[in-house]
Amino acid sequence: MVHVDWLDTGLNHVWLPYTQMQTTPMPAAVTGMQGTTLHLANGQSLIDGIGSWWTCAHGYNHPALKQALIRQLDTLPHVMLGGLAHEPAYRLATRLAALTPGDLTRVFFTESGSVAVEVAMKVAVQSWRNQGIGGRTRFVAFKGGYHGDTFATMSICDPDEGMHAFFGDALSPQYIADLPDTPERCEALMALLDDHSDIAGVIVEPLVQGAGGMRMHSAETLAAIRLACDVHGIPLIFDEVFTGFGRTGHMFAADRAGVTPDIMTVGKALTGGVTPLAATIVSQRLYDTFHDIDPDKALMHGPTFTGHALGCAVAMASIDLLENPGVLSGVLELEKRMSDMLAPLADHRAVENVRVMGAVSAVEMKKGFDVEASRARFIDRGVFIRPLGRVIYLTPAFCISAEDLSALIDAISSEVDVLAA
Ligand SMILES: *Cc1c(COP(=O)(O)O)cnc(C)c1O
Repeated sequence: MVHVDWLDTGLNHVWLPYTQMQTTPMPAAVTGMQGTTLHLANGQSLIDGIGSWWTCAHGYNHPALKQALIRQLDTLPHVMLGGLAHEPAYRLATRLAALTPGDLTRVFFTESGSVAVEVAMKVAVQSWRNQGIGGRTRFVAFKGGYHGDTFATMSICDPDEGMHAFFGDALSPQYIADLPDTPERCEALMALLDDHSDIAGVIVEPLVQGAGGMRMHSAETLAAIRLACDVHGIPLIFDEVFTGFGRTGHMFAADRAGVTPDIMTVGKALTGGVTPLAATIVSQRLYDTFHDIDPDKALMHGPTFTGHALGCAVAMASIDLLENPGVLSGVLELEKRMSDMLAPLADHRAVENVRVMGAVSAVEMKKGFDVEASRARFIDRGVFIRPLGRVIYLTPAFCISAEDLSALIDAISSEVDVLAA
């Protein structure tokens, strides 16, 4: 038991994410971490099924990531990219260009997924303008999607489950479509792009819509979106902030699906969860619409910490780990193991369905439930799992042991029984 004097006092001052501060239960104070285990101040340990908002692909406190960070800190913690250059950002950009499919070649660094999506939207809009075509400023996004919490990204989130309801007319109007997972919906998407001349781009979370409830769709759905964009000459953005860097068992969901976007956004697991870093990776073709002697055609964006050296150095080390033999195929084995272990729950009377892709699994309940109470019961069972709406999900580190995985799945089974009672 460690006495944490900062918790009670600090809770009067820190403003927590997505939290009603008046009714929030006391958060669990973490004092240490290793692999897939969180050590709490009260002496308890939790097996982590979430990986700190899906970032922690290699487990906590990985020695290779720690060393990369310390080595960089010793020589050059950071220097701005305006007029100055440092090795980690330039090496990482070169590496991301090689790693991503198709002609995705130009990398713009930011610190958060939301801002990476903002930059993707800006690139799409400005690219039209740079080609002398005005009026293309709106986006097509899909129901169930989540792309961030800033104003532009809120406007392309699912209108019912996102924050549209709260911010309503403060948001730019966009086109929110059904994913084209049936022939009728494919036609509807084609018609939408036919009928509107103000569309700058189409954005989708490929294969798994994360924050919208771990909803999964097929490669064919993405191929249908790609086709509709190609027919209309409209840029396609894959928001891979969640799916990028191995989460689906391939380096990117684009690889698993065999569909290549014109712009890709990445974040979350880019540094293996060690530091904030995100990027917007743009095709050579779109980039060429900015590459000009006209200063007005330059991309006017520049976050203070763009290309942060510590983050870029850790990202290089994290990608090294992902490229070790057996790591990505291990994610596909984890997919198989989670499918087998969760299969019995699919027949449970309280369960709507069970879905698994890569290192993502979800049990959707038929009825809504008290999420806070459920979260507390998981902690009592020695695991950290945070249901989203009606969905209980796991996004564990890729290296999770069989024993820890069993403990997480047993905890979910017990919770399903409690919720069914
Ligand atoms: C988390 C997430 C974002 C936003 O990233 P932040 O780093 O939280 O700003 C955007 N898109 C997707 C798909 C995400 O999962």
